[in-house]
Amino acid sequence: MSPEPHSYDFRLGIDLGGTKIEIVALGGDGAFTHRKRVSTPSGYDETVQAIFDLVAGAEQALGGRGSVGVGIPGVISPSTGLVKNANSISLNGHKFDEDLGVKLARPVKVNNDANCFTLSEASDGAGAGYKTVFGVIVGTGCGGGIVVDGKLIEGPHMVAGEWGHVPLPWPKPDELPGIPCWCGQQGCLERYISGTALAIDCDGPDARDAQDIPARAAAGEEKAKAALARHSDRMGRGLAVIVNILDPDVIVLGGGLSNMEHLYADLPPVMQKRVFSDFVHTPVVKNMHGDSSGVRGAAWLWPPVKK
Ligand SMILES: [Zn+2]
Repeated sequence: MSPEPHSYDFRLGIDLGGTKIEIVALGGDGAFTHRKRVSTPSGYDETVQAIFDLVAGAEQALGGRGSVGVGIPGVISPSTGLVKNANSISLNGHKFDEDLGVKLARPVKVNNDANCFTLSEASDGAGAGYKTVFGVIVGTGCGGGIVVDGKLIEGPHMVAGEWGHVPLPWPKPDELPGIPCWCGQQGCLERYISGTALAIDCDGPDARDAQDIPARAAAGEEKAKAALARHSDRMGRGLAVIVNILDPDVIVLGGGLSNMEHLYADLPPVMQKRVFSDFVHTPVVKNMHGDSSGVRGAAWLWPPVKK
């Protein structure tokens, strides 16, 4: 389908997650002019239909036609056109962007949720005004995205910024030979710095939730303090490699762990020690748009409407 001129009345962003689908219309001032959430259906056709209904509802409410961008927890393979790595929803193996585009009678842009997060924060969030933005989502998993001069860097394999599945750098003897990862490799950063990994490191193999660990550390629990120190050191090492390769102007943290305020103080000294430079000034900052960054970034997959 050939791209049509950008002649829409407004931008619609859709965040397709494992449990819910959210749609927003993004006004020119960055505020939402429409917002709705529904539960994610289990089947593929039902998911496409649910998105169609959300778009139709938004356009009826707003009176006009919107550009449509969709954020998904996976990517569309450039070699096959099929969705891959979207394990929490029923899109794998489908030409989702094409199918949705036919249904909506317009081209649809689809990108992964970490890229949408980074695009949102770089456009009008915590990374606004910076040339090169590295966005990080650290929650149950770990993803990343790169925006330069307001544009997403995707790469021919659509993996640019995917720092969760590179090896933990400068491993210590007790970090070797590396924890096996679901992706087939071992020693992946995600297995050390995600919230799940932090919980397991602190409380054992059945632990999943890291949220209360900072409070326990603040209350003096040695086990929690030690786990947080290991976690900050590992995440700082991972970000130091990003600085060595990309040298971004800012690093924006998102996902559940971005609410752990100690990270903003603890990461820079680790990076200072590891980056190949006599000084390291890269700001590591918290996202501005919180949980809304994904759906906002989906809307930002299309340029602003010119009126
Ligand atoms: Zn991996």
